[in-house]
Formats: sequence, C-alpha cells, structure tokens
Amino acid sequence: MSTVTHDAPDFELSEELKMLRDSVRDFSDHEITPGAAARDANHEFPTEIIKRCAEMQLMGITIPELYGGAGLGNLALSIVLEEINRADASVGVTLSVHNSLLGGPILKFGTDELKKKYLPRLASGEALGAYALTEPQAGSDSANLRLKAEKKGDRWILNGTKIWITSGDRAGLMIIFARTDTTVSKAKGITAFVVETASKGFKVGKQEEKCGIRSSSTVEIICEDLEVPDANRLGGPGDGFKIAMDTLDGGRIGIASQSLGIHRACLEASIKYAKERKQFEQPIGEFQAIQWKIADMATDLDAGRLLTHRAAWLRDRGLPCSREASMAKLFASRACNRAADETVQIYGGAGYTKDFAVERYYRDARITEIYEGVTDIQRLVIARGYLK
Ligand SMILES: Cc1cc2nc3c(=O)[nH]c(=O)nc-3n(C[C@H](O)[C@H](O)[C@H](O)COP(=O)(O)OP(=O)(O)OC[C@H]3O[C@@H](n4cnc5c(N)ncnc54)[C@H](O)[C@@H]3O)c2cc1C
Repeated sequence: MSTVTHDAPDFELSEELKMLRDSVRDFSDHEITPGAAARDANHEFPTEIIKRCAEMQLMGITIPELYGGAGLGNLALSIVLEEINRADASVGVTLSVHNSLLGGPILKFGTDELKKKYLPRLASGEALGAYALTEPQAGSDSANLRLKAEKKGDRWILNGTKIWITSGDRAGLMIIFARTDTTVSKAKGITAFVVETASKGFKVGKQEEKCGIRSSSTVEIICEDLEVPDANRLGGPGDGFKIAMDTLDGGRIGIASQSLGIHRACLEASIKYAKERKQFEQPIGEFQAIQWKIADMATDLDAGRLLTHRAAWLRDRGLPCSREASMAKLFASRACNRAADETVQIYGGAGYTKDFAVERYYRDARITEIYEGVTDIQRLVIARGYLK
C-alpha cells in the first residue's frame, strides 16, 4: 500500500499499463526489429506488421470497446508508441497517424452515425487511417490551405491537392481539410471531411523518396471532383481548423512518444557499444567523455518522458493540453536528435555504416522536429500560452 499521504503525482504505471508495455516490447523485439533494416533499405511498407498490430488491438487503442477498440487512453497510446518506435520508426509513424490523427477526431467530433460506421473499421485494422492538411503553400501556415469543397445538395465536391500525406496511398479512410468559405478569415473558412479513399475522384500522386522513416509511405493526394456526403462532415462548416489543431495536440503527443522510442534505442545501443568497444586497452565506456554523453542522454530521455506522459494524462482527462503537448514534442524531438547524433559519435566509423542500426536512428530522428509542426511552431504555441 502507498505511504504517500500528500497530493503528489503518481509516477508508477498501473499494472494494466505495465502489462501492455511489456507485451508490446516483446512483440517489437521479436517481430518488428528483425526486419527493420531490410524494410528501410527496400522502402518496403510494413503491411504484415500492421496486420499483426491489428491482431494485438493496437489499431484502436483509444477507441472505446463499444466500437471494437481497446478502450484505453492517450497514456497507453504513448507507451505503445515508445515501444514500437524503439524498434522501427516507420511502423511507429504509421500507427501514430492512424490512432491519433484519424481515430481521435472521429471519436471526439464525429456524429454517432460516423462513429458507428467508421470506428470499428479503424479498430479492426480493416481500414488504415490518414490525415490530409498540408498543401504546397500551406505547411506551417496550414490555415492557408486551398483545396476546395463546394456544396451540391447533400454532397460536397472536393478539388485540389495535398502533399506529404503519411499512408495516403495505403489508407482506406482519410480526414481531408478543405476550404468551404472564402468570405471569412482563412482559419474560419475550413471544414473537415471523412473521406473513403475508394471514392471516385480520389487519386494518389507523387511518392516521396525520404531520408528517414523510409518504409513508411508519404504521398501526394489529388482530389478531382471527389464527392463526399454531407453526413461525412466532421463538426460544422467552418470548424475544420479548430478540429485540425485539436487533433494535432494528440498527434504531437504521438510524435513526442516516437522521439522517446528512437531516443531509447540510441541510449541502449550506446551503452552496449561502450561496454564492448575497446580502445587504449579499455572499454570506451570507461572514458569520462563517453560516460557524460550517456548520462545526458539518459537524463534527457526521462525528462522527455515525464513531459509526454503529463500531456497524455491531461488529454485523457479532457483538460487543455496544447501547450503541454507542444512542450513534450519540442523537448523530446530535440533531445532525440541530440541522442542520435551522440550515438553515431560513440560508434565512431562504425556508426556511419549500415553494419549497425544507429545510422537509421540518426536518419529517422530528423523528422520528429519537422512533422506535426516544426520546432519553431511548437515554440510559438508555447509562448502564445504565456503571452496572450
Ligand atoms: C515525412 C513527412 C510526413 C508528413 N506527413 C504529413 C501528414 O500525414 N499529413 C499532413 O497534413 N502533413 C504531413 N507532413 C507535412 C508536415 O507537417 C510539414 O512538412 C510541416 O508542418 C512543415 O511545413 P513545411 O514543410 O511546409 O515547412 P515550412 O512551413 O515551409 O517551414 C520552413 C522553415 O520556416 C520556418 N518557419 C515557418 N513558419 C515559421 C514561423 N511562424 N516562425 C518561425 N519559423 C517559421 C520553419 O521552422 C522551417 O525552418 C509530413 C511531412 C513529412 C516530411
């Protein structure tokens, strides 16, 4: 029994979460890590692994059991994503987008009809999810999007292009943000739609060749007179930007968790190599310069995890968490990049070759500071919270 009597935060995971963490760690070690290097080299999408994730109920972590999900929360999702990303960040981003950027907003903003129709498909893994906000002229300035939706009777007709959409060519369902009103301010004229990608007029364009997360898929999406029923509108007309930003609060917790996973892989690899590699007739881990790198990496990892779990904890309670999610992503992604850089340094020449996974961690880490809001946008969100 706990002897703590004051109102202290509880840093102990529940037995349920520990069991979840251990089972996903075991799955990652045995089924994801072994093929990660080959999938990365061949740009091979992890289709079979995603099927296994569905069998393990990892495709609907925050979706209630009523709709076939695991009925857990954002803290559970963060723990799962850390474990998966420690093995393979390409699988990690695919799962993060699916769970937080599509399942999340349908659950929060969808009508009962939309929830009944789509959440079971997402939870079972029958349909993979994607989120389409970015356009060529609308990156950090996402309110500047132009993809147009015009109402015709009980349907909307979508025309325009999205770029860099994770899983865009693999997804069965996608949330697409479109401009529905040009007479109001940019952010107020956007509406969100849940789109079935089998619809006529949905096209996949350029496939990106990336520096990291190479076995995840990133594509251009083209809508050509794509018809969407009004019933597939998420929220009211004009609510789209708010929905996009609220959804990104959850997504940023996901990317912070991805950063933790890559960071932990770096720390573990560094410790192993520091004990094995000898120079000047001693393991390099006996040099203080190496010990300090490992101490900094471990401390940053714990700090990033505390920030990430706090943001997830707030979101699970329906409390505002934009600032905290941005703090978690800002800190964890930058710390992950420092850790990946130091890990390559600890490995010396070996870290620069394909003989070890650390060069992949180094490439994969880089994206965590870019997508779902670049580092400077996280700073902007945090500072706004203090200065408004
Ligand atoms: C692999 C990958 C996957 C992606 N997946 C998705 C997806 O699934 N769905 C989706 O919608 N999008 C996706 N994106 C897009 C991603 O979210 C954007 O790349 C990101 O938001 C940044 O936009 P940008 O690349 O246009 O950079 P820009 O906004 O052009 O930024 C360029 C530079 O300007 C700086 N900058 C911009 N604005 C400011 C400011 N106000 N203050 C200070 N500095 C600023 C930035 O920090 C950056 O250094 C993905 C991108 C990649 C690379």
